Amino acid sequence: MATADCIFCRIGRGEIPADKLHDDGTVFAIRDINPKAPTHLLVIPHVHVSALAEESEAARAAAAACLAAAGPIAARAGVGSYRLVANQGADAGQEVPHFHLHILGGRRLGAMG
Ligand code: 5GP
Ligand code: ZN
Repeated sequence: MATADCIFCRIGRGEIPADKLHDDGTVFAIRDINPKAPTHLLVIPHVHVSALAEESEAARAAAAACLAAAGPIAARAGVGSYRLVANQGADAGQEVPHFHLHILGGRRLGAMG
């Protein structure tokens, strides 16, 4: 997918307005438009990485930066207990082919799977 058409690239560039809870120039965080929990945030790298299987240094750095940012973002959002999810591929329910972490919290979460 060209980054010109990617919804998360476009939000990152400010072409589509979104309430960014965090933006350190490497990753940003927004509230999910269709929340599955009282707190449902997305942690998204500015660089377009389609999947964790990408073996470039940029892809590894983007994934690591998302993980490093997630804890402080969750804490600032007021959730002390939460789940991080990274859907990879259609069977996992990935809709947006730009790597991102979900932060889900604010309710008791069921078993995974
Ligand atoms: P995935 O299914 O790819 O892991 O997660 C994509 C998530 O992005 C979905 O939970 C979906 O609700 C959310 N989403 C899709 N488009 C937008 C958007 O334009 N704005 C926001 N805030 N969330 C979006
Ligand atoms: Zn993208």
